[in-house]
Amino acid sequence: MKNDQVAFGIDIGGTNTKIGLFDYEGNLLHYSTHRTNKDLSPDQFIQELGFECEEILSTKIGVPFGSSRLVGVGVGAPMANFFSGMVDHAPNLGWKNVPLKKLLIDTFKTNAVIENDANLAAVGEKKWGAGRAFTDFILVTLGTGVGTGLILDGKLYRGHNALGGEGGHIILSHTKKRLCSCGGVDHLESYLSAQGIKETIFEFLGEHWTIEKLGQEFLAQNPKALSVIHCIAHELATGLSTMAVLFGPEAFIIGGGVSKLGEQFNKVVEEKFNELVHFSLKNKVKILSASLSRDKGAVYGGAAHIIDEVFR
Ligand SMILES: [Zn+2]
Repeated sequence: MKNDQVAFGIDIGGTNTKIGLFDYEGNLLHYSTHRTNKDLSPDQFIQELGFECEEILSTKIGVPFGSSRLVGVGVGAPMANFFSGMVDHAPNLGWKNVPLKKLLIDTFKTNAVIENDANLAAVGEKKWGAGRAFTDFILVTLGTGVGTGLILDGKLYRGHNALGGEGGHIILSHTKKRLCSCGGVDHLESYLSAQGIKETIFEFLGEHWTIEKLGQEFLAQNPKALSVIHCIAHELATGLSTMAVLFGPEAFIIGGGVSKLGEQFNKVVEEKFNELVHFSLKNKVKILSASLSRDKGAVYGGAAHIIDEVFR
């Protein structure tokens, strides 16, 4: 990549769509976010996204789509399949059988890659963030859902047909207490998604707290908040212990909106993890916060991914 070239990283989420324009060193030249308009058909959605991005490119760089200065667009979306270029079924977006990669290439007139958002965030952390120091780590995003991205031997691991690396759907228990967004029961996501945490808060306290409030009360050492934090940290650590014995990561990197609970929360998770995990891994796996801004990981990763793909 030449030093006057740029790439888009875009995260199409069930709630918001985030757009970043990056230079070759990962400097963010432009960032914007808006609600995802789910009333549009996928074709219309990508067309609108294209209009917006061409405007950004023209304003920031002074060139239109089709210019060689734009090396590509890396896009994260729920259930996006890197290999097939398709989004077969994304309930959060109301999309079925969408040829997302082809739509992007036609609209942006450049290279495109698509991935699920947690995979992209892992790629971003590996290239420009907290993952630079590691060859094996697992990125865990805690947000509307729970996603995981596996970097193994320095590379993103997708599994057969890009269907692997979905650690949010590890089964945590068999109590049949909590439905997961996928239709399964008692998955990690049932407990660690924003909704899952809110349910736990209500079970413990009989009150509706936001996650921000939980974070504040936890830092103030409110015993009510501590009881909730210890419970959710235990649930997360249970999921991480399972992943750790399978993959032997050097670190877990925690991102997503819920990671605003911060380093203090990571410490509690690490304590629980070291209690639960197989003896061979005790005190050997780091638990860190993502270093790219917590809600922009997939946007950074989109740009990192397209740069790596195009300039391999
Ligand atoms: Zn699930």
